[in-house]
Amino acid sequence: MAPNDSTSYLDYNATTPVLPEAAQAVAASLSLFGNPSSVHAAGRRARAAVEEAREAVAAAMNAAAQHVVFTGSGTEANALALRGLAAANRCTAALSAGIEHPSVLAHVADEHIPVDAHGVIDLAALERALGSRAAPVLVTLMLANNETGVLQPVAQAVELARKYGALIHIDAVQALGKVPVDFRALGADSMSFSAHKIGGLKGVGALVLRPGVEIAADIPGGGQERRRRAGTEHVSGIAAFGAAARGVPTLLSAAPRITALRDELEMQIQSGVPQARIFGAAVARLGNTACIALPGVSSETQVMRLDLAGVAVSAGSACSSGKIAPSPVLLAMGVGESTAKTAIRVSLGWDTTAADVDRFLKVWLPLAANAAA
Ligand code: PLP
Repeated sequence: MAPNDSTSYLDYNATTPVLPEAAQAVAASLSLFGNPSSVHAAGRRARAAVEEAREAVAAAMNAAAQHVVFTGSGTEANALALRGLAAANRCTAALSAGIEHPSVLAHVADEHIPVDAHGVIDLAALERALGSRAAPVLVTLMLANNETGVLQPVAQAVELARKYGALIHIDAVQALGKVPVDFRALGADSMSFSAHKIGGLKGVGALVLRPGVEIAADIPGGGQERRRRAGTEHVSGIAAFGAAARGVPTLLSAAPRITALRDELEMQIQSGVPQARIFGAAVARLGNTACIALPGVSSETQVMRLDLAGVAVSAGSACSSGKIAPSPVLLAMGVGESTAKTAIRVSLGWDTTAADVDRFLKVWLPLAANAAA
């Protein structure tokens, strides 16, 4: 159940409820009205809140606090990485997988490396692309896919990047709090995060940089964030991000319970609806995510019928017309357009209960049975 209403909220990959600790941090921060760049006591109090949060965020992904740059979203963290790394290092090209988030794909014009039918990047194709271009190339790869939950072989991609003198950015927005993330051990050049995926506020993100990596500011101006991202800091949002980041070990300890609920949901679907397809089920993926196609019933119909029954899930990507377009992620995996148009994403989280899963199944299974009749 989502807090404060009776909805069965199964859309955690879109955003999460604000954690009580994050809400408390916001409340406490509202009296810290000083500008964190001011030298007087009010400014220093706001600065202290920002720096405490930076320590907490850094600890959540095993990075050093001074290499955490707060941004206005995960989208902005990706933009800062991709534009900033390319500009500062004179990258010759940018490569990504075709399944990346739109906030990454918008910056990658050069080449989309194919993925297999499970949605995993083709490392041999990445190596060929790296070998055919002059260094330094910029590679960008997500840790976990937002629609299917499929995990990418980021450690091997980092190794390949090193072999070919490339830079590599990892979009870890969906991974934090769901699987362990160790920035130092991975050795990527940068990694992006978003507060609202772990119980913080919307409109706050972070880019973490490897020590010594050069990056050009995407938003120049007042010199905040060590000249990497200008603009007076969003003290409340950052304080909430810090509080949510302190909760990451608790989120990780909830993961097995959430995975068991997701597995039960998928098991009921597989046994009751043989024509349904579950994407990414044969490979490593986030334990909270189920991406399901129900041939014959459009994504829109499924989402609306579930919504009317108080169950919140999402479909592919909503385009500006308000219509739901087939998911580019599924298309990149070779799923046909007609099947992709029947896919929904169910994503569970820390407040999800067995009753929420039952409620989903009570609406969705009859929908499937009607379609099959
Ligand atoms: N990257 C991935 C994989 C995402 O799932 C999202 C958001 O859904 C983003 C980036 C963008 O984050 P934000 O919503 O903070 O802009």
